Amino acid sequence: MKSRTLAAAGAIALAAATITGCSAGTGGDGGGDTLTFMFRGSDAEKAAYTAAIEEFEKANDVDVKIIMTTAEEYSTKLKAAITGRQIPDVFYVDPGSVQAYVGSGIIKDITKEVEASADLDNVWAYGVDSYRFDGKLMGQGPIYAMPKDVGPFSFGYNKTMFEAAGIPLPDKDKPYTWDEFIDVAKQLTKDTNGDGTLDQWGTGLNVVWNLQSFVWSNGGDWVNDDRTEVTVNSPEFVEALQFFADMGPKHGVTPSVSDAQTLDTYQRWMQGQIGFFPVGPWDVPTYEKLDFEWDLIPYPVGKTGKPATWTGTLGIAVSETTKNPELAADLAIYLSTNVDAQQSLVDAGVQVPNLIDMAEKWKTESTLPPENREEFLQIVQDYGRALPANNTYSAEWYDELWKGIQPVLDGEQTAKEYLDEVQPRMQELLDKANKDAGIG
Ligand code: CA
Repeated sequence: MKSRTLAAAGAIALAAATITGCSAGTGGDGGGDTLTFMFRGSDAEKAAYTAAIEEFEKANDVDVKIIMTTAEEYSTKLKAAITGRQIPDVFYVDPGSVQAYVGSGIIKDITKEVEASADLDNVWAYGVDSYRFDGKLMGQGPIYAMPKDVGPFSFGYNKTMFEAAGIPLPDKDKPYTWDEFIDVAKQLTKDTNGDGTLDQWGTGLNVVWNLQSFVWSNGGDWVNDDRTEVTVNSPEFVEALQFFADMGPKHGVTPSVSDAQTLDTYQRWMQGQIGFFPVGPWDVPTYEKLDFEWDLIPYPVGKTGKPATWTGTLGIAVSETTKNPELAADLAIYLSTNVDAQQSLVDAGVQVPNLIDMAEKWKTESTLPPENREEFLQIVQDYGRALPANNTYSAEWYDELWKGIQPVLDGEQTAKEYLDEVQPRMQELLDKANKDAGIG
């Protein structure tokens, strides 16, 4: 998912453009079929997937050729495979690409296979619905992929820092209001060694991944319900962006631009210099090793009084041109919902279980951090939403918002001025996306 690149956001990684083609190889007799599976992920995920696929190979007398890429190069590699008509039998898709891929006949409707072999009542509805498309609207109709995972983008805090500062720990059941949040963040922002420069900060959030929570919790949104109108200049949205920006120059609870250039806030969080920072399930294997204690809480709440955030997801789709449609669908369904396959991914600590009964058990029995694992599940079940561009034909209109936002974050332009100025450009791009999708 896109958020996976968050970790690398500060360092522009010009990764070597290589695809490692190799078989998960169990030394089968070679008499069975062959499938190709293209995916991306961390080393921990690759190991867990390779193990799960070996089991599938044994059970189905099939040889699965694994094509692994880094998160950064996946989309380029997939595009090249599509252009060169070398589409893998089974591969990851993000929900934002489903409409275009269905439109151009790249991915296959696997509804029949899914309904025949998966218990959909025991899979997070958000995960499956993210890949439903009825030809007009996402979220309903035939299934074009099964969820690889659901990725609740939660909020964490450095418990050790709170204890050292003698500040009462946040209550996981009672979110901070924005004012309370700023108040605590100010108390955490300190020159701890008295040399005249700050050494720790309340927070340090990336606008691209964190603005959603503030906007939604304040009652704003990017578009209206039928996705025809860009609503970023609504009073609720304006207020949320202004609040977000004010954490910088006005309240001074985030590292300054130059401090953030020296070391980005992700690194500073990991070094124990940041009080509040987002946490996704994919971060847990890394954060588990940090030398401070941390836990999850809901995001601070705006006018609605309710926390909000997004839930990411990646899907596993089947190529429309596969020579082994049944087996390919079986592999997608297996990786998404097989109990043993899910268990090996959950044991690797890289994701929240896709299966609801397994997640309930994991919530109470897992020994992995965070302690408040329930927050992840509450996001998936109750208050997580899809990223705004997931349900539109293209993301250009959404990406336009970030392009000129820096002066607002630097306190050089008000949120209102900027949003009034950018709304027409976004509207034009959304109109184009809707036109391409055959809507409006
Ligand atoms: Ca200092």
